Amino acid sequence: MIKYLELQKITALHSEEIHNAVDNVINRGWYLQGLENNIFESDYASYIGSQYCVGCANGLDALTLILRSYIELGIINLGDEVIVPANTYIASILAITENGLKPVLVEPRIDTFQIDDQLIEKAISPNTKAIMLVHLYGRCAYTEYIGYICKKYHLKLIEDNAQAHGCLYNSKHTGSLGDAAGHSFYPGKNLGALGDAGAVTTDDKQLAETVREIANYGSSEKYVFKYRGRNSRLDEIQAAVLDVKLRYLEEENAMRRKIALRYISEIKNPSLILPDKNYYSKSVFHIFPLVCDKRDDLQQYLLANGVETMIHYPIPPHMQNCYSGEFDNLQLPITEKIHRQELSIPLNPVLSEKEVDRVITLLNRF
Ligand SMILES: *Cc1c(COP(=O)(O)O)cnc(C)c1O
Repeated sequence: MIKYLELQKITALHSEEIHNAVDNVINRGWYLQGLENNIFESDYASYIGSQYCVGCANGLDALTLILRSYIELGIINLGDEVIVPANTYIASILAITENGLKPVLVEPRIDTFQIDDQLIEKAISPNTKAIMLVHLYGRCAYTEYIGYICKKYHLKLIEDNAQAHGCLYNSKHTGSLGDAAGHSFYPGKNLGALGDAGAVTTDDKQLAETVREIANYGSSEKYVFKYRGRNSRLDEIQAAVLDVKLRYLEEENAMRRKIALRYISEIKNPSLILPDKNYYSKSVFHIFPLVCDKRDDLQQYLLANGVETMIHYPIPPHMQNCYSGEFDNLQLPITEKIHRQELSIPLNPVLSEKEVDRVITLLNRF
């Protein structure tokens, strides 16, 4: 069986270093907000190219904390609107609604899966305060035109960089392109912890300080509470693991890219639509998406032949129960098509050449 993802194999690539890092934390006896957080935050900030990095509990919290901080700082107000791609993972949208803000869903482009920048301006109202730009599947969603729109309408640009660690736009990393970025280090992401973890990056000192305070019960001084905060801190153990894995991110992304380029050049089945080579040249391939109008048959066929696949995502956010009544009458044909036809095939740094051969052969035979 070719699994979609085998995390124990990925961890085993750096087993000794990870064990040493974890042992050090255990023996030091300081488990939160210590040395490892400082080291990882500083290393990740310089990797991304941001002035500040604040570790937190997970990616959803990172996005939630950014918006909450803008509210506390008076930059965004309750009820304001945030533009977000309609086909994103639910977390991007939960971060908006959790803060009492209104998500305005914008359709993606079918050829890139990223928000269609030509549709953004039409979605702007006097209450729009931010764009939540999601670099989906490992590809950069930023365009110069999006930067122009943000300037023109004074919108904050918040990046959801959960799926795109290491992705470049020109010579800058995603996560440093806007005003602030939320990062998830969920175990299955390109840079994954051994549990939940996340971070915020930004060049805005005041925002970074506010995020840090809110993530620590709203406090920067013990037992003094400035905000009605939450507890969203990054464990020292996870920070230590992430600092080890960060050193291998480029190498692992290169391995992903190599497999992706093989898929793109060797899968030649006209019933499958592959990501476009040009658009994807700079992707870090968190996900390798195929589009197929017989998606469910394809998934069954691959499974019957020993290949596990995933769907990103089976039900779009606007059709989820948790948002019933919220997006009634909203027509999102491209989003719905992606959710009906997308299939993600295995792509990760521990996939062997033989396994890649097998996936390609099976897809060409379908
Ligand atoms: C994984 C993910 C998140 C949330 O990250 P968690 O660490 O699981 O909370 C947010 N946005 C996107 C696009 C994701 O893929």
